[in-house]
Amino acid sequence: MNRAVRVPIFRPNEFKWTHDPEKCARCKRCVQQCGFGAISWEDGPVSDPAKCVGCQRCMVFCPQQAITIDVNHRRNVWHQAETGGVLLTGMGCDLDYPILWDHLVLDACQVTNPSIDPLREPMELKTHIGRRPDRVKPGGGEEDESDIPIAPCLELESPIVFSPMSYGSISLNAQKAIAMAAAECGVMWNTGEGGLHEDLKPYSHRAFVQCASGRFGVDADYLNAGAAVEIKIGQGAKPGIGGHLPGEKVSQEVSRTRMIPLGTDALSPAPQHDIYSIEDLRQLIYALKEATDYQKPVSVKIATVHNVAAIASGIVRAGADIVYLDGFRGGTGAAPTVIRDHLGIPIEIAVAVVDQQLRDEGIRNQASIIAAGGIRSSADMAKAIALGADAVAIGTAALLALGCTLCQRCYTGKCSWGITTQDPALTRRLDPYVGSQRLINLITAWSAELEEILGAMGVNAIESLRGSRERLRAVGLDQTTCDILGVKPAGVGA
Ligand code: SF4
Ligand code: SF4
Repeated sequence: MNRAVRVPIFRPNEFKWTHDPEKCARCKRCVQQCGFGAISWEDGPVSDPAKCVGCQRCMVFCPQQAITIDVNHRRNVWHQAETGGVLLTGMGCDLDYPILWDHLVLDACQVTNPSIDPLREPMELKTHIGRRPDRVKPGGGEEDESDIPIAPCLELESPIVFSPMSYGSISLNAQKAIAMAAAECGVMWNTGEGGLHEDLKPYSHRAFVQCASGRFGVDADYLNAGAAVEIKIGQGAKPGIGGHLPGEKVSQEVSRTRMIPLGTDALSPAPQHDIYSIEDLRQLIYALKEATDYQKPVSVKIATVHNVAAIASGIVRAGADIVYLDGFRGGTGAAPTVIRDHLGIPIEIAVAVVDQQLRDEGIRNQASIIAAGGIRSSADMAKAIALGADAVAIGTAALLALGCTLCQRCYTGKCSWGITTQDPALTRRLDPYVGSQRLINLITAWSAELEEILGAMGVNAIESLRGSRERLRAVGLDQTTCDILGVKPAGVGA
């Protein structure tokens, strides 16, 4: 049904842009900096309120601090009454759902079990991701029930990977910054579904190469270029929704990398049309293993939904080496707002139930868990690992490090910060070398903080924290939630 006809409506603007002419040096920098064309020059800067998205680029770059931007009114209902359209958005859910990380606290050592000084004693953050054999033989060597070769585990210097963000949805400079940072820090980045650009091949030994429903850029060379292969089933920000990169963002370079015609919409449907059961998924997993000579771990990425534990169990039994769980607060380049904000479950719950299910079934060694979608800090990372994750993935935090101001207009392709755009005038604003150093700083800082946390807990290796829910306590959570998380309320001792 489509009966929508555009009907203009008179309403207040979403953002209130104000400019102080007393301070203004008339340099016109704000006019040049606005990626959305919202500021023009009429004997001084003038803002078009209908175009301003609150990206704050003009405010940050004004040398005189002459500009202020305030949120005036959120205008979703007015906008829909005017257009009859589905509201789109970018980045993650910003509704006021409880964040369970903020209701969990970690244990610390006191009198009888001394803490460790992380500055003076070695702390091990090295993390191995992938399938482990069923048994280690007493005299050395390994045993596994399966007669299928086990791919070597990925080795991370710190339990962090970058979330999948495709070339096309983000700029090449942004993806290059992420890839360089991953290679420098000994962690992993992820191509997303957009293929592997030539310029990023030097960093592919640290990449998950993704295979999504659109199969963009997928061939044998691509699969073998990465350190691991990932099958994308779902995304936390839009479970049950596929991808759509508009033709305007499919530049010459994007079309070559994705192996699609220039300027065509890149549509990746929600389902993979060769997967309608766990058996079908198993076929694809083993096709990818076969194509990579059983040398690359295969990850399966899903959105966290109500039945996530059973789904993850099926994925592991289908032969995946890694289960990537993307919680409902995960970010996106473009999604219907109503889907982003109301479908899926929090990553905190998903990690706990998946880890428990795999333990109960005796198959926890067969796959690693990566937790994503709402990891905001090193503390969230430590709590996710204590709940059962092997590593965490960061997307929004990485984009913030690159300069993102969370204006949520990534889907317009006009990002003023040069991150989620293919406009050459905008992409050159992001220097990949500077961006990469910021990401390296972020990973360095989080890793150092993680060492501090481990030291305070009397643990000298991240492996010892994994799944250690006894070291967590809940504050202000009801008993049912505590039971699901497998965590005791604060005040209950060992
Ligand atoms: S950037 Fe600041 S100082 Fe320059 S024209 Fe705009 S408001 Fe005036
Ligand atoms: S990436 Fe750019 S467009 Fe997207 S939220 Fe951040 S600043 Fe806004």
